[in-house]
Amino acid sequence: MFIVKKEIKGKDYYYLRESKREDGKVKAKTLAYLGKTKKEAEEKAKEFKLKTEKKEMVETKIESKEITIDELANFCKRKGFIYPSADIYGGLAGFWDYGPIGAELKNNIKAQWWKHHVHGREDIVGIDGAIITNPKVWEASGHVENFTDIAVVCKKCKNKFKVDESKLKDAVCDKCGGELESKGKFVPMFTTQVGPIEEDSTLAYLRPETAQLIFTNFKLVQDNARLKLPFGIAQIGKAFRNEIAPRNFIFRVRELEQMEIEYFIDPDKKEECPYEIEDIEIKLLSADMQEKNSEPVPMKIKTALKNKIIQLPWHAYWLSSSLNWFKSLGANMENFRIRQHTKDEKSHYSTDTWDLEYKFPFGWKELQGIADRGTYDLSAHQEKSGKSMEIMDDASGKKILPMVVAEPSFGVERAFLVFMNEAYASKGEDNVVLRLNPKIAPIKAAIFPLVKKDKALVQIAKDIYKNLREEWNILYDESGSVGRRYARNDEIGTPFCITVDEDSKKKKDVTIRDRDTEEQKRIKIENLKDTLRKLISGEISFNDLK
Ligand SMILES: [Zn+2]
Repeated sequence: MFIVKKEIKGKDYYYLRESKREDGKVKAKTLAYLGKTKKEAEEKAKEFKLKTEKKEMVETKIESKEITIDELANFCKRKGFIYPSADIYGGLAGFWDYGPIGAELKNNIKAQWWKHHVHGREDIVGIDGAIITNPKVWEASGHVENFTDIAVVCKKCKNKFKVDESKLKDAVCDKCGGELESKGKFVPMFTTQVGPIEEDSTLAYLRPETAQLIFTNFKLVQDNARLKLPFGIAQIGKAFRNEIAPRNFIFRVRELEQMEIEYFIDPDKKEECPYEIEDIEIKLLSADMQEKNSEPVPMKIKTALKNKIIQLPWHAYWLSSSLNWFKSLGANMENFRIRQHTKDEKSHYSTDTWDLEYKFPFGWKELQGIADRGTYDLSAHQEKSGKSMEIMDDASGKKILPMVVAEPSFGVERAFLVFMNEAYASKGEDNVVLRLNPKIAPIKAAIFPLVKKDKALVQIAKDIYKNLREEWNILYDESGSVGRRYARNDEIGTPFCITVDEDSKKKKDVTIRDRDTEEQKRIKIENLKDTLRKLISGEISFNDLK
């Protein structure tokens, strides 16, 4: 970088320029205007250089890091996100406990989902159904009879897994290609006895999905919330599956939590989606492309709908809406793709089915399935219970049995994995920086007094802590060097660290540090809560602070 003086109409103007070699030629470029005097120019140039150096230092410092699922599981245990359930007894396969930081992250993910999909819309309301319900529900839904798999064991490597009955004949071991031995049919539902006296008790099931409680309560909810088609009913809750082989940390588990929506429409209005489709570009893999073994291509969702690759506007709408939720919480769309079910995979009652997939550390796997379920469930419950599930449509004056056009649902655990994987970054060799979006970060800010022995500083810090805690989960930390305190908070994804120092006493201000850029700014204590609120919500960015 060098300063040049230009004379224009007898006056001096100073500029900062830089020469770079591009395509074998040296080219000079103006970087900044430096003013009209030499002294001013030198000062401004110095400032500019410092700024760019600092920026470059930061930019090379924190970078995304790919890790294996085992490394992620270890990290989660070490930092208090997730432990094997009852670890002191060696855990239990497929069951996990959430620690202090993980419980916060999980709650925040659920709260953001609810806010986006329930509170953020007029057409969706939420319920909270029972985990154990009348067993007739699972008879009507077909789970008791059809929700079966064949358990198999590999004769060579002893790996256990399940296969679909129709595919048993040609199936070989996933891991080694060995021959399989069938262990017979099993129903992957957990059973229990309801009622303490054995002869009076009833066999019941722990629900294998949350959807059925939405269907059984359909009429009551529609009536209570005065819903008009099209509308949705949402639920977040636990479900249980007696998986033969839980694996990949919290990806395939026996106790899971679902965030679910059943979205109902008039079956005669399948083509009419009144909502604007957010036009997101995403890697797309159609059934056709899979048949030809071709790679996914990036495509705008609206283009895919226009070209009839995605058949129903409602599916395009829900795919983009789900992607948009992940995007709004900082996920990189490069790691997502949508894949159409092939003829063999598709359920017989479905017009078209799409999976929203994510590039997990163990490969591309399903996050969410978008399919129309038809009137299958409501019809089944109508028949079994003898109670009508039809609703009155004011617009047409007809009674309608609505169909489910999509169930944009997925496991909280999988969303948890996505956000952890997206956030995981490293600084140098050993330091982890978890770049979680502030909206889902377990701790929103950490407050430090610079010197622990200075009572006045501690008092100011504690007052701030008390004030901010009224609204968010906040951490107070006075032990160790400030650098150590920053590092501890970077690892658990705390987006902002607030330091109270000597100047805070006189000037009534503090330093606020941004996790991702490590930049620091001074801010008045009286403005802190309001500023933090705007930073967390994304209304302003750290760069907007003066
Ligand atoms: Zn094997």
